[in-house]
Amino acid sequence: MTTSRTGLVSPVGGTLVDLFVPVEARAELRAHATRLPSVQISERALYDLELLATGAFSPLDRFMSRRDHERVLGEMRLAGGQLFPIPVTLPVNRVPGLRLDGDIALRDAHNELLGVMTVEEAYDWDRGETAQQMLGTRDVRHPLVAEMERWGEVNLSGRARLLAPPLRHDFRDLRLTPAEVRARLTEAGAVNVVAFQTRNPLHRAHEELTRRAADLIKGTLLLHPVVGMTKPGDVDYYTRVRTYKVLVERYYEPGRVVLALLNLAMRMAGPREALWHALIRRNHGASHFIVGRDHASPGLDSAGKPFYGAYDAQELVGRHQEELGITMLPFGEMMYLPDEARYEEASRVPKQARTASISGTQVREEFLNAGVKLPDWFTRPEVAQILMDTYPARHRQGVCVWFTGLSGAGKSTTAEILTTLLLERGRNITVLDGDVVRTNLSKGLGFSKEDRDTNIRRIGFVAAEIVRHGGVALCAAVSPYRVTRDEVRHMVGADHFVEVFVDTPLEECERRDSKGVYAKARRGEIKGFTGIDDPYEAPEHPEITLDTLVSTPDANARRVLEYLEGQGFVR
Ligand code: ADP
Ligand code: ADP
Repeated sequence: MTTSRTGLVSPVGGTLVDLFVPVEARAELRAHATRLPSVQISERALYDLELLATGAFSPLDRFMSRRDHERVLGEMRLAGGQLFPIPVTLPVNRVPGLRLDGDIALRDAHNELLGVMTVEEAYDWDRGETAQQMLGTRDVRHPLVAEMERWGEVNLSGRARLLAPPLRHDFRDLRLTPAEVRARLTEAGAVNVVAFQTRNPLHRAHEELTRRAADLIKGTLLLHPVVGMTKPGDVDYYTRVRTYKVLVERYYEPGRVVLALLNLAMRMAGPREALWHALIRRNHGASHFIVGRDHASPGLDSAGKPFYGAYDAQELVGRHQEELGITMLPFGEMMYLPDEARYEEASRVPKQARTASISGTQVREEFLNAGVKLPDWFTRPEVAQILMDTYPARHRQGVCVWFTGLSGAGKSTTAEILTTLLLERGRNITVLDGDVVRTNLSKGLGFSKEDRDTNIRRIGFVAAEIVRHGGVALCAAVSPYRVTRDEVRHMVGADHFVEVFVDTPLEECERRDSKGVYAKARRGEIKGFTGIDDPYEAPEHPEITLDTLVSTPDANARRVLEYLEGQGFVR
């Protein structure tokens, strides 16, 4: 433990901002809103609004004004001087009918009314400058910098009156406002409360760290995971919350832990974000806050370097903890000592001691993808199982095999044989054959460029759903246009997409003419026939190219099977 201060502070009081109108005033607000211009706010702004409204961002009580915004960027302070490290703004595109000092209706993505805001200010802001000051970078590898490109060009600010917190139906008993968390803590008789922020599943190292923190302050743990927006690519929150629940039920001391979900839209702003997290937890009644290494880290920049130093966040929070009214508990990395079967903080690990660790990449590649259970020293068995359910082994993940080639090239013939071979190996198959699809899913579509693209996109949409649900989709359609095939690859996900080019020359397809269509096309009875008077764009980088002149359909199907085996999709 490298904490410098362990002074015990009781949970902070103070009043919380509350932007909701009383229940009896809702009808009037709704009626008023029908006469107003509307803005539809983004997912991020919706999360921000919810936390503003419930007081999680107290003393901030509105989307920031220009003076707030500038001072927060430059000095981490609101216009009134209070510490606040992260801009919370409402960027919108120009709103028709908007007047200063006039009201606008705030609506969500489904046009549901959230409340009414009196627009006191509408001001331009500078993307590059904002990114530079808030995040210390303009590098688009930073997920927020990339996202900011799409934000509106005007920030709105003003007093808001809201109807009710957004209804959420999942994990209802865990969604607590700051006031509810405080009440829960008071009920539990908690004096010292240490909050833990997380956006990852909890493994033994985190469990160890949080238990030590609670012991150190002789207090209660507030396990406070973020379920709003986190870093793209993170484990989805449904999975994560299942891990937190099982740990709280089985592995923490009853009565000394409170689990609550936080609808925060993270910025991945490293040190500034850590300070913000501390402020938010103070508002939820925590007296202490854990800051480990790489807090709120956005990963690596385009030069392959970390955006922030591993312990920059501890340094910044440490400097402001007193003013903020919450004490930081800094932790180094927790390491496992296999010889002693225990965890220890990196700085206290004896020099010669053996240590063990498993990186995030290893978790995915060497364990989950391979279907190997994570060891008990690394994670609790229940957590390992939850992760295996969400991330099944490769041989239980979905995959799309996309056959493309001229009519009569041999796509269906090969796909049919491959179907039986995959069934033999225990996989579930859906065949989406162009000729068949055109009699049901795409009935009525013709062969214009537009109709063909529609047909392919439909097949792609269905294939993507099948793959998402862990099935194998075998698609066989001429799919003559490269751009559309690439679009489908993207829809399905490139690492679960296998493009198979059935490379039979036109002369051979025409010679076979198993459906009699080429003869008709030559006679002009079918117009725009692929290969005759409509182009076929051969794939540039297919995963597999099949030759049907020398190889038999059986040999070709086995080649695709072998490829799938090599990729781990078949056991
Ligand atoms: P597509 O689905 O590409 O339009 P089909 O599979 O329906 O083509 O038709 C291909 C025709 O070519 C079938 O009649 C099949 O028997 C014949 N054929 C001959 N040699 C091969 C081969 N090596 N691979 C696939 N089909 C072949
Ligand atoms: P697409 O990718 O063009 O939607 P499909 O595999 O769904 O291709 O349908 C192509 C099949 O429809 C061919 O096998 C052929 O028998 C028949 N067909 C009818 N008219 C045409 C045409 N103009 N071009 C290509 N195939 C056609």
